[in-house]
Amino acid sequence: MVRAKAIQRALSGYDLKNLSIGTLGSHSALNIFKGAKEEGFRTVCVCKKGDRILYERFPLADEIIQVESFTEILDDDVQEKLRERNTVLVPHGSFTAYLSVEQMVNSLNVPTFGNCELLSWEASREKQNEWLLRAGLKLPKVFEKPEDIDRLVIAKLPGARGGKGYFLADSQKSFHRKAREMVSRGLIDERDASQIHLQEYVLGVNAYPHYFSSIMNSEVEFFGVDKRYETTVDAIGRIPASEQLEIGLSSTYTVIGNIPITLRESILPEMIRMGDNVMKTSREIAPPGIVGPFCLETAITDNMEIYTFEISARIVAGTNVGIGTSPYPYLKYGENMYMGRRIALEIREAVRQGRTKEILT
Ligand code: ADP
Repeated sequence: MVRAKAIQRALSGYDLKNLSIGTLGSHSALNIFKGAKEEGFRTVCVCKKGDRILYERFPLADEIIQVESFTEILDDDVQEKLRERNTVLVPHGSFTAYLSVEQMVNSLNVPTFGNCELLSWEASREKQNEWLLRAGLKLPKVFEKPEDIDRLVIAKLPGARGGKGYFLADSQKSFHRKAREMVSRGLIDERDASQIHLQEYVLGVNAYPHYFSSIMNSEVEFFGVDKRYETTVDAIGRIPASEQLEIGLSSTYTVIGNIPITLRESILPEMIRMGDNVMKTSREIAPPGIVGPFCLETAITDNMEIYTFEISARIVAGTNVGIGTSPYPYLKYGENMYMGRRIALEIREAVRQGRTKEILT
């Protein structure tokens, strides 16, 4: 509650007619800035020196605050600059990658779009599983220890790493052999190896639906779907199987980009229900529930079963495929609606209705 007080104090000093939208320069910042500009906001980018070229070449940030590392967003002078500009931060994957939940909740006293109480639910695999199961979603089976492996599993390291260092195994023996191999190749270290999470590998195609939970409209809007372009797993198929065996390849899942998908229309009703149920459960665990964008990571099997293996309760980089043109928002809003803009629209609407406290935490 200390944070809630600090945020309300900051907000009471804000000129709400003159808000800026700010974020870290990476991940989906261009998406967020473009949307903010189109809805008439000023924009602030907290950016590393080496990345300035991007935000200068696409001049969507009215101001760049240069830092050596993203953790400097916690520095008093950076936070002061942001507050002086009436900044609302829009968090994305780089926030959770560079800052701990504790740092975001206890040390980042700048009004932030979203429900920060859900951060701790998102950060822990156990709590995520509880949330998704309570929402009635189908999840891949989890194996407590390598001895229990009785089918193909994906071995995941702690924290979101874009699948870096993940590997597959189908028995206790192959698990230990692969883990040793990954350590000797430097892809994981000994400490990682002891904290691996074992999950049933779902043989199906990946689909990552994006949603926008609007507090202003009391509706979960379906915003699009992407799949990830992952190296090396998406590269392996280009090599004949005999050569794959010869060089002893193991697949890794480092995300390089995203590819847009339109789903079979008959899958959409279930996807929409899943989004509604995830939102409904989030309202029970941390009222008012998810504020703004969220994404499910799913794999769909040949009998149309949808397995969910992760949730991100914030904007995901997969929504970048929709910048300027996205089929599902088009169906609802007409042209030119995408996640960055939808966030800005929600903030504008909350200001208009005097309800900013409901969406900024
Ligand atoms: P991160 O959280 O580090 O981004 P993910 O949990 O998203 O990692 O997994 C990375 C990739 O691994 C996914 O995009 C997907 O291709 C694959 N993957 C993850 N879990 C499963 C699973 N249970 N079954 C099949 N593929 C999976």
